[in-house]
Amino acid sequence: MNLSHGLAPGSTIGIIGGGQLGRMSAMAAARLGYLVHIFTPEADSPASQVAAQTTVANYTDQAALKSFAAAVDVVTFEFENIPAPSLKLLSSLRPVHPSADILAISQDRLAEKAFLNGIGAPTAPYAAVESEADLAAAITQLGLPAVLKTTRLGYDGKGQAMLRTEADAATAFAALAPKPLVLEGFIDFACEISVIIARSADGSIASFDPVENRHKHHILDLTLAPAPLPPAILAEATRLGRLIAERLHLIGLLAVEMFVTSTGTLLVNEIAPRPHNSGHWTMDACPASQFEMHIRAVAGLPLPPASRHSDAVMKNLIGPDDMADWPAILATPGLIPHHYGKTVARPGRKMGHLNRLFPKGGLPGAFGIIDALKYK
Ligand code: AMP
Repeated sequence: MNLSHGLAPGSTIGIIGGGQLGRMSAMAAARLGYLVHIFTPEADSPASQVAAQTTVANYTDQAALKSFAAAVDVVTFEFENIPAPSLKLLSSLRPVHPSADILAISQDRLAEKAFLNGIGAPTAPYAAVESEADLAAAITQLGLPAVLKTTRLGYDGKGQAMLRTEADAATAFAALAPKPLVLEGFIDFACEISVIIARSADGSIASFDPVENRHKHHILDLTLAPAPLPPAILAEATRLGRLIAERLHLIGLLAVEMFVTSTGTLLVNEIAPRPHNSGHWTMDACPASQFEMHIRAVAGLPLPPASRHSDAVMKNLIGPDDMADWPAILATPGLIPHHYGKTVARPGRKMGHLNRLFPKGGLPGAFGIIDALKYK
């Protein structure tokens, strides 16, 4: 195998995690001639339905991890809550991209914020909270309202509580686990955006246009690509994304979520070294999607420009309510449907998404977007 040209077609890419991000990465890998081996504790996972092979085992199963490593050429992941010792074991056996060090930073909100501030990427003001006394001190320092979060294992608004008055503090502290926690100053943001960056081992970078993300019940609902914001703000978002990818020595894909304040300042909220829900629009609006970029970066292939040929709106399909509309979505011209192969549509579960494309520069204003997605 000539690694200077990247992994040869026919090689096997190991992906830890069996969700929809793994599924769509596996589909992109197949298109480039690779086989994918999924490692997941879940039988019949969305990713294993489209992969060549699956190991069904717990993320802590050392024997299963070892035989998985022996069966693949390179390892990547599609979610972040992988136990550190498991990734360390895999890293001793095969190249793992992005690295275990990057994952460790993204798994821990305190490590993440310290890293970001250390490289000059601004975040919300924050303080570490291990005890109720720490929390009282943090409230004095940051003021209220504020957001109390677990440092680990939070997603889609889980593992956090809004503190409006001092009376909220004790209940929130007791409810949130595991400790330690982090208190963040409340950001009265104008909107939320994200940028997705791919970086390869030779340091070349491809960055997708920054997008605006709108949430419903703490879960991503709509992504508007590009974000309808002044060019200077978009350029700054891209600059920050590239800076973070470079300082992490990233090989792979990285999503950076940011708040845009009312004065147009950017604050980094979270980083995720993997494909991201806010990048699903790239599947239909760009020649190479975020999933193809992910696979290319971990396989050592050249990165094409992350240019878009169209503007796009992405809508998530969540739970039974949205899936009741699936037949109507399929019957509506112009909507591009993506189904994750999950059979049970529990409330809040991400079941699929749809993209709608617009001519470049033609993304309708905020009021037109909802109409543009009408399929009922
Ligand atoms: P996170 O789990 O950190 O991505 O937070 C989930 C959502 O909660 C974000 O997308 C924001 O809408 C909101 N949020 C999180 N942190 C803050 C903050 N410090 N100030 C205001 N809103 C926040």
